[in-house]
Amino acid sequence: MDRERKIIAVTTNEMTVNELDENGTLKKEHKLPFAYSAVIPAFKGVEAVAAVPGLCNPRGFVLIDKHQRSPKYPHIFSVGVCVAIPPVEVTPVATGAPKTGYMIESMVSATATNIVAELAANSTTQCNVVQERQVGAPREDRL
Ligand SMILES: Cc1cc2nc3c(=O)[nH]c(=O)nc-3n(C[C@H](O)[C@H](O)[C@H](O)COP(=O)(O)OP(=O)(O)OC[C@H]3O[C@@H](n4cnc5c(N)ncnc54)[C@H](O)[C@@H]3O)c2cc1C
Repeated sequence: MDRERKIIAVTTNEMTVNELDENGTLKKEHKLPFAYSAVIPAFKGVEAVAAVPGLCNPRGFVLIDKHQRSPKYPHIFSVGVCVAIPPVEVTPVATGAPKTGYMIESMVSATATNIVAELAANSTTQCNVVQERQVGAPREDRL
C-alpha cells in the first residue's frame, strides 16, 4: 500500500505523477524528466464485447458466475483475460488481478465440462434447437 502513484500528465520529456496516501489523497506531486519512456495503458475489454448491455463490468470485462457463465446471458460462457476478476485488495490506484495461462487453462477445462453437463441435462431442448436451425430435411444423424 506504500507509495501509490498515479500518472496525471505526460509531455514530450516530462511525466507528472501524483503520490497518494492510503486514502487516495494527494501527498506529493512529482515531475519526472525523461529522454525515453514506455507507459502501458490501463487494460480494458474489447469494445464490441463491452458494448453488450449487462454483459461486462465498467472496464469491459465479462461478468461470470462460478460456472464461468454470464448471469445475464446463460448461453454465454467466458474464459481468459476477458473475464472480470475482482482485485486482490483495494488500493488507492485501481489495479487488476494477474491472469496467467495456467489459470485460463483451468477456466477452459471447467467451462468445457459445464457445457457438456448442460447439454446432457437439456438434451431434448438442445435437439429441438438444432432441428429448428438445420437446413434441409431433418436427419437423425445431424443431431
Ligand atoms: C509478456 C507476457 C508474459 C506472460 N508470461 C506468462 C507466463 O510465463 N505464464 C503464464 O501462465 N502466463 C503468462 N502470461 C499471461 C498469458 O499469456 C495470458 O494470460 C494468456 O495468453 C491469456 O489467454 P487468452 O486466450 O485469454 O487471451 P489472449 O492470449 O490475449 O488471446 C486473445 C485473442 O483474441 C484476439 N482478439 C482481440 N480482439 C479481438 C477482436 N475484436 N476480434 C477478434 N479477435 C480478437 C487477439 O488477437 C488474441 O489472439 C504472459 C502475458 C504477457 C503479456
